[in-house]
Amino acid sequence: MDLILLGLPGAGKGTQAEYLVEEYNIPHISTGDIFRAATKNETPLGLEAKKYMDAGELVPDEVTNNIVKERLQEEDVKDGFLLDGYPRTLNQSEALRDNLQELGRELDAVIYLNVPKDILVERLAGRYICSNCGATYHKLNNPTKVEGVCDRCGGTDFYQREDDKPETVKKRIKVNEEQTDKLVDFYQEEGVLIEVDGNQDPEDTFAEIKELLKG
Ligand code: ADP
Ligand code: AMP
Repeated sequence: MDLILLGLPGAGKGTQAEYLVEEYNIPHISTGDIFRAATKNETPLGLEAKKYMDAGELVPDEVTNNIVKERLQEEDVKDGFLLDGYPRTLNQSEALRDNLQELGRELDAVIYLNVPKDILVERLAGRYICSNCGATYHKLNNPTKVEGVCDRCGGTDFYQREDDKPETVKKRIKVNEEQTDKLVDFYQEEGVLIEVDGNQDPEDTFAEIKELLKG
């Protein structure tokens, strides 16, 4: 299964990705995670990406397209992948289309998680992440079952993202809004768009996705 998760920051892409990779046994490719890992390791890519991420802006298309192109050549994606946070611009969606064509593969579906903007701000403000396995939680909406202990790996160390501060959040939503609308149109025309109401519980959202993927 070759899938894309599309949605504004905070729409629940990372959260749904956790369910999807388990259900369909495909690797999760998050460009945000790739950039954050590179930033943490202070690689040249990380130092370049950090400038944009801290400002809530997009990393230039050329850099991002090359990273994904290389990632899609790795062995573990041969039976499928789940792209999360890529593509984010029309240029990226065109690069991906060419890239997939060269690889002789076709997208099965683009899952668009639609969530009202005011809810996104509140979700990002309460987001916290397990430092060990990357599982995502929310202080109010989606806390760990046992306080301070990750449901998935038992880790006890969590962090909040630098770019989840209210000032950066508003900028990120604004930067992504216009592009996301264009991507929705692009994939609708390609006939692969699945629109899901992301403003319901994570389990209900996932149930809707699964149902639509069957169809
Ligand atoms: P994205 O990857 O699209 O930026 P996340 O999956 O990280 O979004 O979700 C953002 C925040 O919202 C997290 O704190 C997460 O726990 C919470 N969240 C995700 N899905 C839902 C949902 N369906 N309802 C309420 N909160 C959610
Ligand atoms: P995310 O984890 O998807 O919220 O992404 C965090 C940040 O990484 C974004 O605000 C951008 O600065 C950068 N980023 C992630 N994916 C992309 C992409 N496809 N294109 C450009 N920048 C990206």
